[in-house]
Amino acid sequence: MRTYCLRTIATTLLLLSAIVFLPATVNAQAAGKASDDIQMVLVQAGHLVDPASGTATPDQEILIERNNRTGRGIIQAIGENLEVPADTEIIDLSGHYVTGGLVDAHDHLGLTYKEDPESNKYYFTTLMDSTPIRAIQSFSTGFQKLASGFTIVRDLGNNGLYADTALRRAIEQGWVPGPTMINSGIIIGAFGGQFSEIPEREETVYPEYLNADTDDEIVKAIRRNIHYGARVIKVCVDCQAYPYTVDQLKLFVSEAANAGRKVSGHVQTPEGARRAAEAGLWSLDHDRAMDPELHAIMAKKGIWRAGTETPKAAWSRVSDEEWERRIAMLRDAYDQGVKLVFSTDADYFIRGMDRGELTLEFVKTWKAAGIPHADILKIMTTHGYEISELENERGPIKEGFMADLIAMPENPLENIDALHGIDFVMKDGLVFKRDGVVAPMDFFHNGPAYGWDKK
Ligand SMILES: [Zn+2]
Repeated sequence: MRTYCLRTIATTLLLLSAIVFLPATVNAQAAGKASDDIQMVLVQAGHLVDPASGTATPDQEILIERNNRTGRGIIQAIGENLEVPADTEIIDLSGHYVTGGLVDAHDHLGLTYKEDPESNKYYFTTLMDSTPIRAIQSFSTGFQKLASGFTIVRDLGNNGLYADTALRRAIEQGWVPGPTMINSGIIIGAFGGQFSEIPEREETVYPEYLNADTDDEIVKAIRRNIHYGARVIKVCVDCQAYPYTVDQLKLFVSEAANAGRKVSGHVQTPEGARRAAEAGLWSLDHDRAMDPELHAIMAKKGIWRAGTETPKAAWSRVSDEEWERRIAMLRDAYDQGVKLVFSTDADYFIRGMDRGELTLEFVKTWKAAGIPHADILKIMTTHGYEISELENERGPIKEGFMADLIAMPENPLENIDALHGIDFVMKDGLVFKRDGVVAPMDFFHNGPAYGWDKK
């Protein structure tokens, strides 16, 4: 008790002295930090490409205010010959086509299929790779995608025990660079998830999937995911012989909406896809069960199609039959006016290609389907911002929006393969890649520089 009293007195004295000196200290900090925290940046674009309208305007400047305290870089003005403050940093991209960042609307950053050791069976991946090693993988794969120009990724599950949330928070708090993440937490499915369990070890479904068979379990699973940081809800609609009913899928939609979230549905059978469309899911993922009849419903209801269209290539295992069907169905969806996004599921280790390069390989399918290059760019950008529900915050190059920019020497509206030449990437107003070299030290901090926020 005596010790307590002495400590109380000491604490009181300390507090009093702090109060006496507080105003001067705060003022000194404010005066000293204000200029350190704010940096004005002017990007001089040879052409500014607007994928939404399919236009490229020559000689545009983009003025950005970067705040190193909040991690935000906001576009202040766009135009010709802007007036800028004296100490503005100039970035000369006068020989480049500048546009907003790319979006992959379906990947799993914390999952990597590998021949060695698990023979490309991801059931074994989940048994052999811990969540911590998968979290570190997800930082690496996200970093690689950002280097190829992907500033937004919808990360739809298969990340162990919320490695996706951990990465999203690490990026948002300022520990590491990475794309803006719309993550789903754990995939919710009927008993067994996407696995073929054995009774001896049926608990191995978790944490890769959350079993939810009844209405109560569905509500709990959704709330659990949201509590642990999910920005979108991912449901495996028909991964087992007992697909969810339309009413159950409607429950997914309403319960997710209760927390302002949308529902993305893995579909693999025509019946499952039909039920998911009828229930009004936000997006349907994977093209294998999609056909003209479903496309007509999706177009009418405005449901996003995230087809994850793997191209036929030396590194892929796409059969001729699959390939022909894939291209025909993608073309049909395009012709019927279905809302399309670029989505890959590019979660495998291909030696000699990084994850960003692998992601860009998927453009081949869109070219093979005969979709105009300007529309492919719009699908990879404008549509990606919309499915991510970020279109009023980041993506488009507009005043008041976050400064996520990419640049390349050729015009991607005329030749989408220009994306392979992306040699400049800016994220949140900070340069991540310049002259083809990734130099990200400004993104790393030894603490939560932008604030500790466990959302
Ligand atoms: Zn997937």
